[in-house]
Amino acid sequence: SNDELRCIGCGAVIQSTDPKQPGYTPQSAIEKGLANNELYCQRCFRLRHYNEIAPVSLSDDEFLKLLGQIRDANALIVYVVDVFDFNGSLIPGLHRFVGDNPVLLVGNKEDLLPRSLRRSKLTDWLRQQANMAGLRPIDTILVSAKKNHQVDQLLDTIEHYRQHRDVYVVGVTNVGKSTLINQIIKQRTGVQELITTSRFPGTTLDKIEIPLDDGHLLVDTPGIIHEHQMAHVLPAKQLKYVAPQKEIKPRTYQLNDGQTIFMGGVARFDYLKGSRAGMVAYFDNNLPLHRTKLANADHFYQKHLGDLLTPPTQDEVDSFPTLERQEFHTETKSDLVFEGLGWITVPAGVTVAGWVPQGVSVLIRRAMI
Ligand code: GDP
Repeated sequence: SNDELRCIGCGAVIQSTDPKQPGYTPQSAIEKGLANNELYCQRCFRLRHYNEIAPVSLSDDEFLKLLGQIRDANALIVYVVDVFDFNGSLIPGLHRFVGDNPVLLVGNKEDLLPRSLRRSKLTDWLRQQANMAGLRPIDTILVSAKKNHQVDQLLDTIEHYRQHRDVYVVGVTNVGKSTLINQIIKQRTGVQELITTSRFPGTTLDKIEIPLDDGHLLVDTPGIIHEHQMAHVLPAKQLKYVAPQKEIKPRTYQLNDGQTIFMGGVARFDYLKGSRAGMVAYFDNNLPLHRTKLANADHFYQKHLGDLLTPPTQDEVDSFPTLERQEFHTETKSDLVFEGLGWITVPAGVTVAGWVPQGVSVLIRRAMI
């Protein structure tokens, strides 16, 4: 019978009698869900597909309207970023849009960073990077939505700071906001009615509201699309490289100047000037890195793009954008960031170049590790 079936999203017992009660799933969806081994209740199913329905562009009028509503609200803003792609997680001008509302900074996907990296050090780094982006968060917390690390603590922290206010959860797409909201819902299962979807007034934008204990709401806002993410230039089959699922194993290279490292065929690092030094690459463990001589690198790329230098694969080469080069000199130990893909940590006093597909950012920042 259906009594034993539970939603794999929220854990509620599946039922098809009362749409207003937790676990409601139409009978046909139960059958489909069982067949696919993916049984979600109707709410979680909608939630899972929420980001496919709702993402909005940063410049979207409706999104700007939404931000205006958040500014005028009296609320706690929970700003979710991806610690593996901090720069790609930034919402330009967010500090202006939140008004006087406090911002709680949540660094998601902490499971991707080496366990040896002290979490307090990472938190400090995140806070400092946020400050440089003009944001003064009241607190910074690391979580892994996927592994359910620290999600409890996050909820306690939200309770601590919200002081009888509503909570708005904001973030760009791919930072793991849906995964986090799903975890939050799971934690609250059985406590009360779970979610309702509704719209922001005056817009077509959907939101998900999770009731809090005092009648206030935790509101999930639409994911925001960053047009310049690596995710938009990678062929669909190669998206796994920008959403690593396992702890990143740093790859260390002893490099002389005049050497190049290719990250598949999607990015390139040149060591232009400096003495022999160790450089550490942080990319998805399955992304093949290739070391070669700088003098021969252009030729090497033309010859091997799609075979040795993959992704992209041979059949994706034609539609793949050309790489563009930017040069940097470091004053301190720094990360050369290939936005969305990863970074290479380089010492102070070196000159390097980063190459990324047209439209993607390459930048330098204070070293995270
Ligand atoms: P959203 O667009 O912000 O809602 O992001 P999703 O929740 O759809 O997640 C985007 C990708 O990041 C998916 O591949 C998730 O599996 C992955 N992801 C989400 N949270 C985590 C996390 O805590 N750790 C890791 N390693 N991956 C995560």
